Amino acid sequence: MASRNTVLMRLVASAYSVAQKAGMIVRRVIAEGDLGIVEKTCATDLQTKADRLVQMSICSSLARKFPKLTIIGEEDLPSEEVDQELIEDGQWEEILKQPCPSQYSAIKEEDLVVWVDPLDGTKEYTEGLLDNVTVLIGIAYEGKAIAGIINQPYYNYENNEKQQLREHRNEAKAGPDAVLGRTIWGVLGLGAFGFQLKEVPTGKHIITTTRSHSNKLVTDCVTAMNPDVVLRVGGAGNKIIQLIEGKASAYVFASPGCKKWDTCAPEVILHAVGGKLTDIHGNVLQYHKDVKHLNSAGVLATLRNYDYYASRVPDSVKNALVP
Ligand code: AMP
Ligand code: MG
Ligand code: MG
Repeated sequence: MASRNTVLMRLVASAYSVAQKAGMIVRRVIAEGDLGIVEKTCATDLQTKADRLVQMSICSSLARKFPKLTIIGEEDLPSEEVDQELIEDGQWEEILKQPCPSQYSAIKEEDLVVWVDPLDGTKEYTEGLLDNVTVLIGIAYEGKAIAGIINQPYYNYENNEKQQLREHRNEAKAGPDAVLGRTIWGVLGLGAFGFQLKEVPTGKHIITTTRSHSNKLVTDCVTAMNPDVVLRVGGAGNKIIQLIEGKASAYVFASPGCKKWDTCAPEVILHAVGGKLTDIHGNVLQYHKDVKHLNSAGVLATLRNYDYYASRVPDSVKNALVP
């Protein structure tokens, strides 16, 4: 461990505050009731007003403070003057008190690449599955994901279906005083914070996978894992949270579709607590600024027992997915 107030730790502290503001914007758009949905490539590839406003907020706020950063956001937006109201200038003081891992203490602003998914789980957001949604800010150095921030704007939110199920089972609810939303952050070599690490009981194979982007390859691969339970939920960020909170043992997505901004921040949080995220062949993902955006060989991620799941990926699936 080395110095404090390095470029990396200042960036993480700012990105934390920026992600919190992003979460507020995501909630505000729902509260105002006009989602402004636009189809990008097809009916399951959507953009809403929240995706647009949050990307403007995150990218402009970080660029003002750190003008030499490379920032890559998911959405294609016209370059226009950003409303001052969207700018967040704060930095989370708790993060500034943390030491920077020594291997990152000399990093310069121009060496960092920031991958921004302003709203991960947009399809689910438009369908009211609000707790699936996250805001993802991933930070890469020399092609490697080294720091990440995940805001979950509707953490503690109970949709009606879930609430009824819990009442039926007589389980405790979050309660009316529960604070809505949370921010998880992590840096390799320092750790990940903002949640309670939990593991799935040993021997249980709970697979989490896509809800709205499935196909035969995806289901073939999931079936080959011999799952006890399959969870189909939205969002790459959401699925990594399931892994670190003991709700799922493996995230399996044997299909192209997911992009670098989906995996950068979640990968760091998982790696910081000893997990592993790769493509379906076991290749480490790269995050330098010129890398292709698509994770064309899918995603395989676990907190523990990575080798069990990797060994079960069928050759037919591997042959169909070229890195
Ligand atoms: P999912 O697990 O379906 O929520 O997907 C995780 C992330 O990858 C989300 O940001 C999706 O929008 C993105 N994604 C996955 N598959 C596709 C696809 N076929 N087209 C567009 N985006 C996709
Ligand atoms: Mg996404
Ligand atoms: Mg998105």
